[in-house]
Amino acid sequence: MSSSRKRPPNAQASGSARSLYENCLKLEKQSNRRSLDQLKETLVRDLTFRGSIFDAFTKRSSDPLVAELEGAVKYDYLLEIFRKTKNPDERLHILAQWLWAELDQLPEDSLGKETVARLSSADRERLRRLPLNDFYYTQLIQTWLPYAERLFQDAKGPGSTSRRLRQDLLSLGYEKNAVETYLSMSWKSSIEFTCQWLATRGGIKMLKPRKDPDMARTLRNAYSRILGQGAPADLRCNFCEKSAVADFYAEDIGSVSNCAAHSAEHLPTSSSEAWIDLVGRRWWRAGKSIRCEPPPIDTSK
Ligand SMILES: [Zn+2]
Repeated sequence: MSSSRKRPPNAQASGSARSLYENCLKLEKQSNRRSLDQLKETLVRDLTFRGSIFDAFTKRSSDPLVAELEGAVKYDYLLEIFRKTKNPDERLHILAQWLWAELDQLPEDSLGKETVARLSSADRERLRRLPLNDFYYTQLIQTWLPYAERLFQDAKGPGSTSRRLRQDLLSLGYEKNAVETYLSMSWKSSIEFTCQWLATRGGIKMLKPRKDPDMARTLRNAYSRILGQGAPADLRCNFCEKSAVADFYAEDIGSVSNCAAHSAEHLPTSSSEAWIDLVGRRWWRAGKSIRCEPPPIDTSK
């Protein structure tokens, strides 16, 4: 997946679980005002120019016949995209996305700094209005996501029955809190898991202390506020895994990212028809308020 390129300096996902943990911890401790400013700059560029429509362009087949066929398909596809554009800026935008995906050429190098600044001004303005804490939380989640993703992979590996899973994960060197959080419910989102685990783990410094007892929710909301618009490839609808376009939340329970079809306006109006999100919570609408019920405790683990 090309989403790894989207993230700012991440721990290398190779080596043992324990060394990955050490790397992530080191990155967490390096977080400071300067790295947050850098994150902002990276995010502005990613949100503006990292178009998921070109994700498929980065994977090239090793079979020469297939590669040739793909080339022809790509060409048609590209023409089709350009045909649909409506103004010069849109064409520049597509051009920068394409060259970045295909040739790894940064938007500044293809369009020049001035044009890049103009095209990304809307995203820059949106991020400028968000509190610095949101960036700190988002960076924290991004820092630990490789660890969470690795844990998910190891946990879902063959031969792991739920009874043996705790022992297996501990003997692979996973941190105890992370293992317990993982086993506490049936996770389908490594982002949600990371938020919950970090909240349980504690030690999250806040730039401006807030009175919010639910740290997992605070982390999730910050992450959606920053990455929820512009639909980056690693933010998915929490109901169907299509690319997310927005998010909504129920007071005291949590937030979800949603695709166009699963927007808050489309929520069912009775509890019996509630949508179930990827972590098992049930969502519906009662009058003007959005209701959400936590998932039932999974006692089989
Ligand atoms: Zn959806």
